[in-house]
Amino acid sequence: MSNKNFGRRAFIKSTGIVAAGALLSPSLSSAGGRAVPGGGQRAAVLGGSPVRTKAWPGWPIWNKDTDEKLVVDDLRSGVWSRASLVTQFEQEWGAFVGTKRCLTVVNGTNALIASLLQMGIGGGDEVIVPPYTFIATVAAVLATGAMPVFVDTDVATWQIDPGKIEAKITSKTRAIIPVHILGLPADMHRIMAIAKKHDLFVIEDACQAHGAEIGHQRVGSFGHAGCFSFQNSKNLAIGEGGAITSNDEKFMDRCYSYHNYGNPYGSVVGQVNAGTLIAGNKLRLTEYQAAIGLGQLKRLSAETDKRNENAAYLRSKIGKIQGIIPYTLTDNVTKAAFHLFPFRYNKEGFKGLSRAAFLKALNAEGIPCSEGYAPLNKMPYLQNAFESKNYRKMYAAADLDLRAFNERNDCPLNDKLCNEEAVWFYQSMLLAERRDMDDIVNAIEKIHANAEKIKTSGK
Ligand SMILES: *Cc1c(COP(=O)(O)O)cnc(C)c1O
Repeated sequence: MSNKNFGRRAFIKSTGIVAAGALLSPSLSSAGGRAVPGGGQRAAVLGGSPVRTKAWPGWPIWNKDTDEKLVVDDLRSGVWSRASLVTQFEQEWGAFVGTKRCLTVVNGTNALIASLLQMGIGGGDEVIVPPYTFIATVAAVLATGAMPVFVDTDVATWQIDPGKIEAKITSKTRAIIPVHILGLPADMHRIMAIAKKHDLFVIEDACQAHGAEIGHQRVGSFGHAGCFSFQNSKNLAIGEGGAITSNDEKFMDRCYSYHNYGNPYGSVVGQVNAGTLIAGNKLRLTEYQAAIGLGQLKRLSAETDKRNENAAYLRSKIGKIQGIIPYTLTDNVTKAAFHLFPFRYNKEGFKGLSRAAFLKALNAEGIPCSEGYAPLNKMPYLQNAFESKNYRKMYAAADLDLRAFNERNDCPLNDKLCNEEAVWFYQSMLLAERRDMDDIVNAIEKIHANAEKIKTSGK
């Protein structure tokens, strides 16, 4: 019988008064012990023992025996700049995602920028983005000189709401960037249908969604391009790194050329001595980064499966607690990446305890958690971009009026999600064991039972 179902009265009845005394003693309830749900245990934020003192799995992970050899062999070879290991990683990542081509670049941000530029997107164009994403998605749009257009979030799935995209399409719209945010897939079937109807490019921001699938097809292979990040926190970690995946050979040739100073490549190759063909950049990955990535890639599928199993279990348990609204996966999702594990917190279910106090109490129980993103459609960087020389030359003053922009880009459901509801757990926690998920469940139940006390304490 799990402790979760082991009510306090049953516990006292079966073990006698001595154990009942022990139950009230905080010292015996910590260090691997399970919190018994109910008000009998003092919340850690009020001086009780935390549900968990054991550490969570660290990140990134590497295997000393296999991964280190790849890196050290490269170090000793002296071949550090782009060569065969980078090409091998590109081939393996493209095969994993399921696209004809893959190009690595320095990071996910520049994967997005290169993709936008090589689709011909720039000043005067509009690009549809979600407000619920990491800043890099929107920063990439601004880096090209294009105008971000925000579409509100479907708070059930946490993704861009496909039902609200068409209303934001104008004659200037050139592309949609669906972000598989938190590693949960966006609704690619509906988004691709909208894009086809309006002749728009789709760039999937899959920077948090390594290995996520819709109908057994991996994200990053639905749009005209997919962009990935291998930054240290991501589910495939290299420290820094990124990739573009696509089935469009000519587009990928241009991306390759762009990432290598604009020098000719593939179908971009011109006459001998034609010289540099496109206005390029320098975005090449190094061999030792590829060596790290090849090691990580060996474990990704097993890790992703484990995250999915633990997430499904945790979701089923915490979904029963009043005031916790678990995520919903988009139709037909066969696997998520769970870069983060989200749920919505409704304080009415917790006696009016604020989200900030809930997060503080949960952290105190030994459960790392966060409130996540702030609304990206309302931050000062937008004003900074609009005041720049380039934007002032490319746009009419009315387009750059921040108040009018804010009105056009209002996303009220996303505001509520960010400001009141969102709670995240981290992907590495989902690499622990199932019994560790019970610690999370027990901690939330303990806070639920103590909500009134925590609220009135003002802690
Ligand atoms: C991490 C991330 C990026 C940017 O990737 P970097 O490698 O850090 O440049 C872009 N979009 C999303 C959604 C991300 O999470």
